[in-house]
Amino acid sequence: MTRVNYHLHSTYSVDGKGTMDAMCAAAVRAGFTEICFTEHLDFDRGDKDYGFFDDRAYSAGIAEARARCAGRLTVRKGLEFDFRRAYGTEVGEVLAPMEFDFVLGSVHAAAGYPIYRLPDGVPADLDVRELLAEYFAEVEALAGSGWCHAIGHFDYVYKQLPALVAPRRDAWYWREVERILRLCIGGGVAIEVNSRHLLDRGLGLAADGEILARYRALGGRLLTAGTDAHRPSDIADGFAEAEKAIREAGFTAVTGYERGRPYDVPLDA
Ligand SMILES: [Zn+2]
Ligand SMILES: [Zn+2]
Repeated sequence: MTRVNYHLHSTYSVDGKGTMDAMCAAAVRAGFTEICFTEHLDFDRGDKDYGFFDDRAYSAGIAEARARCAGRLTVRKGLEFDFRRAYGTEVGEVLAPMEFDFVLGSVHAAAGYPIYRLPDGVPADLDVRELLAEYFAEVEALAGSGWCHAIGHFDYVYKQLPALVAPRRDAWYWREVERILRLCIGGGVAIEVNSRHLLDRGLGLAADGEILARYRALGGRLLTAGTDAHRPSDIADGFAEAEKAIREAGFTAVTGYERGRPYDVPLDA
């Protein structure tokens, strides 16, 4: 069985708790044959990540990891950039001179809410519909930006608040989701299946099985899978569940990337 993990952070991300070496060793132990580091690149000047990303050091780290893992593990150089429409053209300008195998674009905040913090405490006055509408508006802009190969953890609001969002998956919700999925399909943008904190914190898979089935029905074929692990012990968390959802939605392969070029990785190769 093929096991490729396209969402991992090492100490080249400010919140990474494992060195690249330790993450690679854990990946080999967990049976992965190919991994892609997706270190954070942040544009929010108030965020602790701002200015931390160092492409030169990261590139050197990737070269060392490739040499160490040769013949055992394929190591891709990827990125996860934080997206907000408010950042304007800065994202594209910063990305332009850098080279990656794979670039993941992720929306982590919308309508003034840091979505990543919501599982720790939902504000009493949170308007879930408004948050979803603003989140979808951000993702729509991201999908049309031309800056990423894949949309990270779509829908992130559902992932972080599955119990609150599940009952709101009404006709409006699916219209919004399918509009963005069509935009991704038309633009050759993949969607990601992200299993972070699925098991240890009960968060949702994103994209989950329902979104995957609709994506496939609309003609979507580009799909990446990752655990979003930030420490070696989390390297495979939720990966089996992600793979199950991918298979149940009818996919027989996931997508890998080399220098931006997508290729099929059959699930049963
Ligand atoms: Zn993320
Ligand atoms: Zn991540």
